[in-house]
Amino acid sequence: MILPVAIHMGILCEVCGVVHFIATSPGIRLSATIEGMYRLTCKPPCSEVKTFRKEAMHPYRVSEDVFKKGYAEVGEYEVLEKGA
Ligand SMILES: [Zn+2]
Repeated sequence: MILPVAIHMGILCEVCGVVHFIATSPGIRLSATIEGMYRLTCKPPCSEVKTFRKEAMHPYRVSEDVFKKGYAEVGEYEVLEKGA
């Protein structure tokens, strides 16, 4: 079975290695305090909270099922280099 695969912009949590997708993750919000910044709250059991600019996001290749879930765990995503 071949799953549909697409490229989506996401932000990596360096603590647990999970990638959150800007379009679908419930953990990503626009920062209420700093204009133009986003705020990521990672999913339990990870308690990482960090703010980032959209430039910090990278393209990741993932299956549509994983993308719809909102996040990809280690092994579920493939990192694409910028400009590749
Ligand atoms: Zn995390």
